[in-house]
Amino acid sequence: MEKTIITVATTGAWPTKEHNPNIPLTPAEIANDVYECWKAGAAVAHLHMRDDEGKGTMSKEKFAETVKLIRSKCNIVLNLTTSGDLNATDETRMAHLIELKPELASYDCGSMNWMHNSLFLNPPQFLEKLGKTMMENGVKPEIEIFDAGMIYNSLYYMKKGVIAAPAHYQFVLGAAGGTAATIENLVYLKSLIPQGSTWSALGIGHGHVPIMLAAIALGGHVRVGMEDNVYYAKNQLAESNAQFVARAARVIKEANSTVATPDEAREILGVKK
Ligand code: ZN
Repeated sequence: MEKTIITVATTGAWPTKEHNPNIPLTPAEIANDVYECWKAGAAVAHLHMRDDEGKGTMSKEKFAETVKLIRSKCNIVLNLTTSGDLNATDETRMAHLIELKPELASYDCGSMNWMHNSLFLNPPQFLEKLGKTMMENGVKPEIEIFDAGMIYNSLYYMKKGVIAAPAHYQFVLGAAGGTAATIENLVYLKSLIPQGSTWSALGIGHGHVPIMLAAIALGGHVRVGMEDNVYYAKNQLAESNAQFVARAARVIKEANSTVATPDEAREILGVKK
Protein backbone atom coordinates (compact mmCIF):
# COMPACT_ATOMS: atom_id res chain seq x y z
CA MET A 1 0.00 0.00 0.00
CA GLU A 2 1.29 3.42 -0.95
CA LYS A 3 1.70 5.97 1.84
CA THR A 4 1.30 9.67 1.22
CA ILE A 5 2.76 12.31 3.51
CA ILE A 6 0.71 15.40 4.23
CA THR A 7 2.80 18.40 5.24
CA VAL A 8 0.96 21.36 6.71
CA ALA A 9 2.48 24.82 6.32
CA THR A 10 0.44 26.70 8.90
CA THR A 11 1.68 30.26 8.81
CA GLY A 12 4.37 31.31 6.33
CA ALA A 13 6.01 34.70 6.44
CA TRP A 14 3.43 36.90 4.76
CA PRO A 15 -0.31 36.29 5.31
CA THR A 16 -1.90 38.34 8.10
CA LYS A 17 -5.13 38.18 10.10
CA GLU A 18 -6.50 40.69 7.56
CA HIS A 19 -6.01 38.09 4.83
CA ASN A 20 -7.58 35.40 6.96
CA PRO A 21 -8.47 35.84 10.66
CA ASN A 22 -7.93 32.10 11.23
CA ILE A 23 -4.20 32.10 10.48
CA PRO A 24 -2.12 31.12 13.54
CA LEU A 25 0.68 33.58 14.38
CA THR A 26 1.80 33.20 18.01
CA PRO A 27 3.64 30.13 19.33
CA ALA A 28 0.51 28.99 21.21
CA GLU A 29 -1.75 29.50 18.18
CA ILE A 30 0.68 27.67 15.90
CA ALA A 31 1.14 24.77 18.33
CA ASN A 32 -2.63 24.31 18.81
CA ASP A 33 -3.17 24.49 15.09
CA VAL A 34 -0.42 21.93 14.40
CA TYR A 35 -2.02 19.61 16.95
CA GLU A 36 -5.40 19.88 15.17
CA CYS A 37 -3.66 19.20 11.84
CA TRP A 38 -1.87 16.17 13.30
CA LYS A 39 -5.24 14.81 14.41
CA ALA A 40 -6.56 15.36 10.86
CA GLY A 41 -3.66 13.44 9.27
CA ALA A 42 -0.67 15.76 8.88
CA ALA A 43 2.64 13.97 9.38
CA VAL A 44 4.93 16.99 8.92
CA ALA A 45 4.60 20.60 10.10
CA HIS A 46 6.50 23.29 8.18
CA LEU A 47 6.87 26.23 10.51
CA HIS A 48 7.54 29.96 10.26
CA MET A 49 7.57 32.33 13.22
CA ARG A 50 6.15 35.83 13.54
CA ASP A 51 7.30 38.64 15.83
CA ASP A 52 4.91 40.44 18.17
CA GLU A 53 3.83 42.71 15.29
CA GLY A 54 3.08 39.68 13.11
CA LYS A 55 6.10 40.07 10.81
CA GLY A 56 8.22 37.09 9.74
CA THR A 57 11.10 36.48 12.13
CA MET A 58 13.89 33.93 12.51
CA SER A 59 13.83 34.41 16.32
CA LYS A 60 15.17 31.17 17.72
CA GLU A 61 13.35 31.87 20.99
CA LYS A 62 10.01 31.84 19.14
CA PHE A 63 10.98 28.63 17.37
CA ALA A 64 12.06 27.04 20.66
CA GLU A 65 8.83 28.00 22.44
CA THR A 66 6.67 26.69 19.58
CA VAL A 67 8.63 23.46 19.15
CA LYS A 68 8.40 22.77 22.89
CA LEU A 69 4.62 23.26 22.86
CA ILE A 70 4.20 21.01 19.80
CA ARG A 71 6.46 18.31 21.23
CA SER A 72 4.31 18.23 24.39
CA LYS A 73 1.20 17.50 22.29
CA CYS A 74 2.19 15.15 19.44
CA ASN A 75 4.96 13.41 17.50
CA ILE A 76 4.58 15.30 14.21
CA VAL A 77 7.76 15.63 12.13
CA LEU A 78 9.15 19.16 12.35
CA ASN A 79 10.28 21.08 9.30
CA LEU A 80 11.55 24.54 10.23
CA THR A 81 11.95 27.27 7.68
CA THR A 82 15.28 28.95 7.02
CA SER A 83 13.75 32.03 5.38
CA GLY A 84 10.98 34.61 5.56
CA ASP A 85 12.59 37.32 7.70
CA LEU A 86 13.74 40.36 5.73
CA ASN A 87 16.28 41.28 8.42
CA ALA A 88 17.78 37.82 8.81
CA THR A 89 21.49 37.12 8.50
CA ASP A 90 23.08 33.86 7.37
CA GLU A 91 23.60 33.08 11.05
CA THR A 92 20.04 33.76 12.22
CA ARG A 93 18.73 31.65 9.34
CA MET A 94 20.58 28.65 10.83
CA ALA A 95 20.76 29.26 14.60
CA HIS A 96 17.45 27.53 15.38
CA LEU A 97 18.55 24.42 13.49
CA ILE A 98 21.68 24.08 15.61
CA GLU A 99 19.69 24.54 18.80
CA LEU A 100 16.53 22.56 18.03
CA LYS A 101 17.76 19.95 15.54
CA PRO A 102 14.45 19.41 13.73
CA GLU A 103 14.10 16.42 11.42
CA LEU A 104 13.76 18.68 8.35
CA ALA A 105 14.40 22.27 7.32
CA SER A 106 13.81 24.14 4.11
CA TYR A 107 16.74 24.48 1.70
CA ASP A 108 15.87 26.95 -1.05
CA CYS A 109 18.20 26.00 -3.82
CA GLY A 110 18.64 29.38 -5.56
CA SER A 111 17.72 33.06 -5.49
CA MET A 112 14.77 34.74 -7.17
CA ASN A 113 12.69 37.88 -7.49
CA TRP A 114 9.99 37.40 -4.87
CA MET A 115 6.37 38.36 -5.60
CA HIS A 116 7.49 41.30 -7.79
CA ASN A 117 8.49 43.21 -4.65
CA SER A 118 11.68 41.87 -3.08
CA LEU A 119 14.64 39.53 -3.42
CA PHE A 120 14.67 36.00 -2.08
CA LEU A 121 18.39 35.59 -1.60
CA ASN A 122 20.08 32.20 -1.30
CA PRO A 123 23.60 32.88 -2.58
CA PRO A 124 26.11 30.07 -3.17
CA GLN A 125 28.13 30.76 0.00
CA PHE A 126 24.97 30.62 2.10
CA LEU A 127 23.78 27.36 0.52
CA GLU A 128 27.15 25.76 1.22
CA LYS A 129 27.13 26.90 4.86
CA LEU A 130 23.51 25.87 5.31
CA GLY A 131 24.06 22.42 3.78
CA LYS A 132 27.06 21.78 6.02
CA THR A 133 25.23 23.01 9.13
CA MET A 134 22.29 20.76 8.35
CA MET A 135 24.52 17.75 7.84
CA GLU A 136 26.42 18.38 11.08
CA ASN A 137 23.18 18.67 13.03
CA GLY A 138 21.32 15.73 11.49
CA VAL A 139 18.74 17.97 9.79
CA LYS A 140 17.55 16.72 6.39
CA PRO A 141 17.14 19.44 3.74
CA GLU A 142 13.73 19.76 2.17
CA ILE A 143 14.93 21.20 -1.12
CA GLU A 144 12.39 23.80 -2.17
CA ILE A 145 12.15 24.17 -5.93
CA PHE A 146 10.63 27.28 -7.53
CA ASP A 147 12.09 26.70 -10.99
CA ALA A 148 14.14 24.14 -12.92
CA GLY A 149 17.47 25.90 -12.33
CA MET A 150 17.13 25.21 -8.63
CA ILE A 151 17.06 21.47 -9.34
CA TYR A 152 20.33 21.75 -11.24
CA ASN A 153 21.81 23.69 -8.31
CA SER A 154 20.78 20.85 -6.01
CA LEU A 155 22.53 18.31 -8.25
CA TYR A 156 25.71 20.39 -8.02
CA TYR A 157 25.55 20.54 -4.21
CA MET A 158 24.87 16.82 -4.03
CA LYS A 159 27.89 16.11 -6.21
CA LYS A 160 29.98 18.42 -4.05
CA GLY A 161 28.86 16.68 -0.85
CA VAL A 162 27.12 19.75 0.60
CA ILE A 163 23.82 17.86 0.70
CA ALA A 164 23.30 14.11 0.73
CA ALA A 165 21.31 11.71 -1.46
CA PRO A 166 18.59 10.47 -1.41
CA ALA A 167 17.17 13.98 -1.34
CA HIS A 168 13.68 15.21 -0.56
CA TYR A 169 12.20 17.88 -2.84
CA GLN A 170 9.27 20.25 -2.38
CA PHE A 171 7.95 21.76 -5.63
CA VAL A 172 6.57 25.20 -4.83
CA LEU A 173 4.42 26.19 -7.79
CA GLY A 174 2.49 29.39 -8.39
CA ALA A 175 4.67 31.89 -6.49
CA ALA A 176 5.06 35.10 -8.50
CA GLY A 177 8.65 35.08 -9.76
CA GLY A 178 8.75 31.28 -9.94
CA THR A 179 7.09 28.56 -12.03
CA ALA A 180 3.31 28.58 -12.60
CA ALA A 181 1.20 25.97 -10.83
CA THR A 182 0.35 23.72 -13.77
CA ILE A 183 0.38 19.95 -13.96
CA GLU A 184 2.65 20.11 -17.04
CA ASN A 185 5.22 22.04 -15.01
CA LEU A 186 5.00 19.56 -12.14
CA VAL A 187 5.53 16.59 -14.49
CA TYR A 188 8.51 18.33 -16.10
CA LEU A 189 10.18 19.31 -12.81
CA LYS A 190 9.62 15.86 -11.34
CA SER A 191 11.39 14.34 -14.36
CA LEU A 192 14.59 16.24 -13.47
CA ILE A 193 15.18 15.01 -9.91
CA PRO A 194 17.52 12.06 -9.26
CA GLN A 195 16.14 8.51 -9.09
CA GLY A 196 15.48 7.50 -5.51
CA SER A 197 14.52 11.01 -4.36
CA THR A 198 11.25 11.63 -2.54
CA TRP A 199 9.13 14.62 -3.50
CA SER A 200 6.12 16.66 -2.52
CA ALA A 201 4.30 19.53 -4.21
CA LEU A 202 2.08 22.48 -3.51
CA GLY A 203 0.22 25.00 -5.61
CA ILE A 204 -0.43 28.60 -4.60
CA GLY A 205 -3.74 30.13 -5.71
CA HIS A 206 -5.81 28.58 -8.54
CA GLY A 207 -3.42 25.67 -8.92
CA HIS A 208 -3.75 24.55 -5.32
CA VAL A 209 -6.26 21.72 -5.77
CA PRO A 210 -5.06 20.55 -9.21
CA ILE A 211 -1.46 20.31 -7.97
CA MET A 212 -2.58 18.36 -4.90
CA LEU A 213 -4.55 15.93 -7.07
CA ALA A 214 -1.70 15.56 -9.56
CA ALA A 215 0.90 15.00 -6.84
CA ILE A 216 -1.19 12.22 -5.33
CA ALA A 217 -1.83 10.68 -8.76
CA LEU A 218 1.89 10.78 -9.61
CA GLY A 219 2.86 9.08 -6.35
CA GLY A 220 4.25 12.16 -4.64
CA HIS A 221 3.49 13.74 -1.29
CA VAL A 222 1.51 16.92 -0.66
CA ARG A 223 1.75 20.18 1.24
CA VAL A 224 -1.29 22.23 2.19
CA GLY A 225 -2.03 25.11 4.53
CA MET A 226 -2.35 28.84 4.95
CA GLU A 227 1.27 29.65 4.14
CA ASP A 228 0.30 28.83 0.55
CA ASN A 229 -3.44 29.51 0.43
CA VAL A 230 -5.69 31.54 2.70
CA TYR A 231 -8.70 30.53 0.55
CA TYR A 232 -10.07 27.01 0.84
CA ALA A 233 -12.05 27.41 -2.38
CA LYS A 234 -13.06 30.30 -4.63
CA ASN A 235 -14.34 33.19 -2.47
CA GLN A 236 -14.24 30.97 0.60
CA LEU A 237 -11.66 31.69 3.28
CA ALA A 238 -10.21 28.66 5.04
CA GLU A 239 -11.69 28.00 8.46
CA SER A 240 -8.48 26.40 9.65
CA ASN A 241 -5.35 24.64 8.50
CA ALA A 242 -6.93 21.36 9.59
CA GLN A 243 -9.66 21.92 6.99
CA PHE A 244 -7.00 21.69 4.24
CA VAL A 245 -5.41 18.63 5.87
CA ALA A 246 -8.76 16.85 6.17
CA ARG A 247 -9.47 17.40 2.46
CA ALA A 248 -6.03 16.07 1.48
CA ALA A 249 -6.56 13.02 3.70
CA ARG A 250 -9.94 12.32 2.06
CA VAL A 251 -8.46 12.55 -1.43
CA ILE A 252 -5.52 10.31 -0.54
CA LYS A 253 -7.89 7.62 0.73
CA GLU A 254 -10.12 7.94 -2.34
CA ALA A 255 -6.99 7.48 -4.48
CA ASN A 256 -6.30 4.13 -2.77
CA SER A 257 -3.32 5.39 -0.86
CA THR A 258 -2.88 5.70 2.91
CA VAL A 259 -2.13 8.83 4.89
CA ALA A 260 1.35 8.38 6.37
CA THR A 261 1.73 8.72 10.14
CA PRO A 262 4.63 10.83 11.46
CA ASP A 263 6.73 7.70 12.09
CA GLU A 264 5.96 6.38 8.62
CA ALA A 265 6.98 9.75 7.22
CA ARG A 266 10.27 9.51 9.13
CA GLU A 267 10.87 6.14 7.50
CA ILE A 268 9.95 7.33 3.99
CA LEU A 269 12.15 10.43 4.33
CA GLY A 270 14.99 8.63 6.08
CA VAL A 271 15.14 11.00 9.03
CA LYS A 272 15.99 10.16 12.62
CA LYS A 273 13.27 9.07 15.03
ZN1 ZN B 1 7.82 28.25 4.27
